[in-house]
Amino acid sequence: MDAPRYRFAPSPTGFFHVGGARTALYNWALALRTGGTFVLRIEDTDESRNSPEWTQGIIDALAWLGIESTSPRFEGPYFQSANAELHRVAALRLHAEGKAYWCDLTAEQIQERAKESGRQGYDGYSRDRGLGPGPGHVLRFRVPEGMTVVDDLVRGRVEFQNDTIEDFVLLRGNGSPMFLLANVVDDIEMRITNVVRAEEHLPNTPKQQLLWEALGHAPPVWAHVPVLVNEQRKKLSKRRDKVALEQYRAEGILADAMVNYLMTLGWAPAGDTEIVPWSRIVDEFRLEDVNHSPAFFDVKKLSAFNGDYVRMLTPAEFIDAARPFLAGDVPWPADRFDQSVFDSAAPLIQTRIGALADIPAMVDFLFLADPKIDPDAWSKTMATEYAADVLDAMSEGLRGCAWGAEGIKAVLDAFTESRGLKLGKTQAPVRVAVTGRTVGPPLFESIEILGREETLRRIAAARSRLT
Ligand code: GLU
Repeated sequence: MDAPRYRFAPSPTGFFHVGGARTALYNWALALRTGGTFVLRIEDTDESRNSPEWTQGIIDALAWLGIESTSPRFEGPYFQSANAELHRVAALRLHAEGKAYWCDLTAEQIQERAKESGRQGYDGYSRDRGLGPGPGHVLRFRVPEGMTVVDDLVRGRVEFQNDTIEDFVLLRGNGSPMFLLANVVDDIEMRITNVVRAEEHLPNTPKQQLLWEALGHAPPVWAHVPVLVNEQRKKLSKRRDKVALEQYRAEGILADAMVNYLMTLGWAPAGDTEIVPWSRIVDEFRLEDVNHSPAFFDVKKLSAFNGDYVRMLTPAEFIDAARPFLAGDVPWPADRFDQSVFDSAAPLIQTRIGALADIPAMVDFLFLADPKIDPDAWSKTMATEYAADVLDAMSEGLRGCAWGAEGIKAVLDAFTESRGLKLGKTQAPVRVAVTGRTVGPPLFESIEILGREETLRRIAAARSRLT
């Protein structure tokens, strides 16, 4: 048997949806494992909604996910709009063979007839009227009698009674091909053997299968993968939810983390961890194992995955990955940024972030002339009766201590013990004085990096503000 041919057939009508990313990855993983091909076909036939910018977005997003257009397993991109003539020829052939017919009913007339008969939709009125092509005439597919059985690798066997399928339109009144026709003719032309796509296309599948058969081909192996839902179990939507892959990328979700996370929506690798390298996913992924209930796209879990992937980076890789997030729209004046200072702070924050976009808020105190004091943090920590004393003790002790996290900690330890307090308590005012916040990278290491002079200056500033 020839190697399978998978395809990904997005419509370039908006940002690249995380659901589309998952579908693409499924197809890519399967093409890699089976020694098959991944065909990219841009379904750009809806001129009112398409734009070249979205097409480029798809190509960039696939590359980011590791679906490399230079791989020998990758074919395309093809553009559906380039095949319009092929679609028309196929439709006219169906007409010549009596499998399609012309119809001149307007939408109003169809509605009128439906109202009279009490049945929904087009009723097959023109089936035997023997009309030819004419201005405004659409070409309809003659749905045969019987039943259409879709064998789906994820959904199982799904039966459709043909009398519930109306004679759908193949060519519009202006002669342009409809989506279902274009989609099937392209799949046949591109010798696609496996169609793996979102579940929302399942209702179309019997029509498409009938078209495959009418055009003289055995249908492909179908697999419809479950929808992604949000926390309220509602289908992810552009309006309600963050669905654009680009947005996650911009926030500093690493590609490997995104890929791994998307692959665990409704599927899991063997073993007790879901964090596995792509090579293992390729080896193990089977459509038959994909759960057919909706999969929860959990942004918090994605962020946890990303944290794991960030921690797996080498220090140098982390510093590199952080670079784009340290320039441009940052909370400090650009000329105050010091790469070597960041490099020494990097190991402190690498273990503490979910997404790379969290980085600036963790290190801004190092690059701002004065820390940006969070008013809530200030009032919570400076109202304690020991706040002034701990600042005084630090101011005194840090002047002469050995400069390093340990020496700094020893100063605070001495004060803490003398008062019978806990380090967690006494750290807080110091942290707010130095960094402006109650949370952040480890305090003593942060102070070490900030330097003795600047730390003393900040403690003095906080102390005088306190009186
Ligand atoms: N162009 C369709 C879409 O983006 C996909 C159709 C298919 O995969 O068959 O929803």
